[in-house]
Amino acid sequence: MPMMKESIRCASCGALLFKAETNAIAAAIEIKCRRCGAINTMRPVSPSTTVARTAEGK
Ligand SMILES: [Zn+2]
Repeated sequence: MPMMKESIRCASCGALLFKAETNAIAAAIEIKCRRCGAINTMRPVSPSTTVARTAEGK
């Protein structure tokens, strides 16, 4: 399965802040936009409740 990179953009002006793989963000981070100076707070997109099923039927 391919690693998807998502573009993180400024919520204020839409400038590209950085790119990250889907699970790269493990906790909330803050990044300041270089263009407009807005502080963007990022959180993990998925609440990471996806638990891999263990094969018990063996
Ligand atoms: Zn901005």
